[in-house]
Amino acid sequence: MTGFAPDVSALNHLQNILNTYLNKPSGITIVTKEISASSSSTLSIDQIKTIEEQNRTVFTSGDQLGVYFLYTNGNFIDNNVLGAAYRNTSMVIFGKTIHDNSGALGQTSRAKLEGTVLDHEFGHILGLVDIGSPMQTNHKDAAHGNHCSNTNCLMYYTSDTKDILGFLLTGSIPSFDANCIADMKANGGK
Ligand SMILES: [Zn+2]
Ligand SMILES: [Zn+2]
Repeated sequence: MTGFAPDVSALNHLQNILNTYLNKPSGITIVTKEISASSSSTLSIDQIKTIEEQNRTVFTSGDQLGVYFLYTNGNFIDNNVLGAAYRNTSMVIFGKTIHDNSGALGQTSRAKLEGTVLDHEFGHILGLVDIGSPMQTNHKDAAHGNHCSNTNCLMYYTSDTKDILGFLLTGSIPSFDANCIADMKANGGK
């Protein structure tokens, strides 16, 4: 949405992660398109689905997988949430929440925060944790839904919310841990 274009470094980080773990010999392409901002400052998942339906241009076709990120100009109804995966190839990044919590003095950088949320949500689309990619070893944090039990893993539950902010102040974008990588490999990854 206008005013909330993706951070170029964050997109590059996502593309590198995908090239590292996915078997995509014909390559991975990122297409961006500006759409008009929403008049609502908070959006529900139902409203997000409607916006996607009105604006998405890339879909799965043949052996080419299409995956969609919507960057909103507002917050989720729960202001603690930075991003979400809500359909099998659909994710949302809450642009205002990301902007409000990164890039200023004393805050983590935009590239780090946005990169973490992009990579994490895409991990859910890839079936992590235990939502499509069967676990090779039990590593699900049962108290926090489909997330990894390793506090240092990208798929730890804090990466969806402002709970990650403290970690990112000193750390860098978390990586998938060995258990998450093993699940992706067993499901066709590399
Ligand atoms: Zn998550
Ligand atoms: Zn993990």
